[in-house]
Amino acid sequence: MRVRAVVGVIALQGAFRRHAEVLGDLGATAVEVRTPSDLAAVDAVIVPGGESTTMSFLLDSSGLRAPLRARLADGLPALGTCAGMIVLATEVLDGRADQPGLAAIDLVVRRNAFGRQRESFEADLEVEGLAGGPFPAVFIRAPVVVSAGEGVEVLAQVADGPVLCRQGRVLVSSFHPELSGDRRLHQLFLEAI
Ligand code: GLN
Repeated sequence: MRVRAVVGVIALQGAFRRHAEVLGDLGATAVEVRTPSDLAAVDAVIVPGGESTTMSFLLDSSGLRAPLRARLADGLPALGTCAGMIVLATEVLDGRADQPGLAAIDLVVRRNAFGRQRESFEADLEVEGLAGGPFPAVFIRAPVVVSAGEGVEVLAQVADGPVLCRQGRVLVSSFHPELSGDRRLHQLFLEAI
């Protein structure tokens, strides 16, 4: 039995470093995933924020798309934040034609869903079932959920729609939980592993 879960952070592009720090603080072992063999060694995965079109392109060029998709279909626990939420969704609106979602969670999401004046903002979110008060959420050119399948739990929303959802062991947020210094969502993710 492994004493510490090994969590892979997809490190092709974007905001992956802070996730590893938070995981370390919580007692998990974080490894950066860039190749299919990196992926084979992990118990769970984080798909970070960044630019989903670029990340999608890099998933193809790195050879990670097919094995990642297969492991997710097999029940690999996953946390997707911002662009990571887009990459893990079933359908992407306002995306590029060549950025198919990995379909790890039954969501239709819209990229860059918050208008210009709110491209970046912070909000205190009430999160379903999360003790300790509202979660300080940092949104950066964030996506929003347009529709969620039956098996999806909406854990938090803003006026524009759901921004934190879970289906089984896949948790996704429109915002960047790794940036606010509040570790409760990473903790929630680790509890599912
Ligand atoms: N707007 C980016 C995208 O569409 C996501 C932004 C982010 O991850 N902070 O991929």
